[in-house]
Amino acid sequence: MNVHDSEQIMELLKGSGYETTKDTKKADLVIINTCSIREKAEQKAHSELGRFKELKLKKPDLIIGIGGCLAQQLGPKFLRKAPHLDLVFGTHNIHRLPEMIRDIENTRSRVVKTSFHESVQSLGILALPRNGSVSAYVTVMQGCDNFCAYCVVPFLRGREESRKPQDIISEVSILADHGVKEVTLLGQNVNSYGRTMSGCHDFSTLLNEVGRVEGIERIRFTTSHPKDISENIIGCFAEVANLCEHIHLPVQSGSNDVLKRMNRHYTREDYLDRVTRLREVCPGISITSDIIVGFPGETEKEFQETVDLMGEIRFDGIFSFKYSEREGTAAIHFNNKVDEDVKSRRLQTVQSLQETHSLERNRVLEGSIEDVLVEGVSKNCRDDVMGRTRSNKIINFKGGADIIGKTVSVNIIKAYLHSLRGGLV
Ligand code: SAH
Ligand code: SF4
Repeated sequence: MNVHDSEQIMELLKGSGYETTKDTKKADLVIINTCSIREKAEQKAHSELGRFKELKLKKPDLIIGIGGCLAQQLGPKFLRKAPHLDLVFGTHNIHRLPEMIRDIENTRSRVVKTSFHESVQSLGILALPRNGSVSAYVTVMQGCDNFCAYCVVPFLRGREESRKPQDIISEVSILADHGVKEVTLLGQNVNSYGRTMSGCHDFSTLLNEVGRVEGIERIRFTTSHPKDISENIIGCFAEVANLCEHIHLPVQSGSNDVLKRMNRHYTREDYLDRVTRLREVCPGISITSDIIVGFPGETEKEFQETVDLMGEIRFDGIFSFKYSEREGTAAIHFNNKVDEDVKSRRLQTVQSLQETHSLERNRVLEGSIEDVLVEGVSKNCRDDVMGRTRSNKIINFKGGADIIGKTVSVNIIKAYLHSLRGGLV
């Protein structure tokens, strides 16, 4: 989501006469897009901002702006903390960037805009993919109403709001006209798409409609909340031919007591049932997840339940995190905080177990032939190209620039932990 916000920021600034540069010393304007989901991300944003202090001293006309969740959270406090900062804009104010930048250029005043708007106009900023990329993001909804006990998103991104289906379809069509082959539909909880609109336009209806846009070969979506994944949405994996066989379905914990304290509104059994149905409807589906270790009060037994669940499901991949305390969330007031060294040990356990599972899941593909959408030249070897299988696995194989942007058949020769090696058929 943040990557897409950055794409939209670049698109808007292009309209204000700015171009991107890789050399920060040459920049007249620096925008730092921040995340504050965990403390680490927040620290990174502060150190990034610190990095530009010296540049501003050498180049007083340089405009420095900060956006995203941390900007939303700190608002005007940011200007007091960082005298070299000119602009603070919140998550609902991206679309006002050209006007804010113009004000700063003309008056050299410092600007803060962090108000929430009921209808978020930045949802519809069309960001065409850069460098001829065949893949693009499309936002289908903004904000979140779930208030998981650990999470700042509802406070910093506001209430859930779905975009009109006709606006989404027209954006997808424009992207297809510009050569995009794959779209990823974005939202904090895409499964509840349509809940805030009148009528019965749910996410499965939207998937069917996007599936009919000419030129779009692949559809992906993220993120799914397990409590809202309906039978209709699961059915789309069989019905919508261009919906790829991958779902990111964050479980967070395998313990019912922890899930309850997290305010997730599903049980371990509900989750397992959803996974079973997904695998029945779509046998080759790859399932990835998010896991938090060391949530307040997590006992050794409760942690073991997460480990057991991983063993039962065998995810294709996970993102795993140590619980990080966030201002404003419910969990900050919970007792029995878990010690840092226990969290580190549990994270290590989860990560090394996942390595075994990821490799095992990738090895299943050895010897098979997969459709691969070629994204570009491989990072490690100029003679290789890199693409993704429909199940979202990265694959490298010998090939020339002429097949970039095309879907080709590739024989899977060898599975590694984070990628596959193949040969063009
Ligand atoms: N809306 C998405 C996820 C958004 S945040 C969803 O519900 O799935 C991405 C992931 O960050 C979450 O799934 C969670 O695993 C993790 N996360 C969020 N807040 C966290 C916190 N305070 N500490 C540790 N991990 C956190
Ligand atoms: Fe955060 Fe939960 Fe909303 Fe995801 S569903 S953004 S974890 S509050």
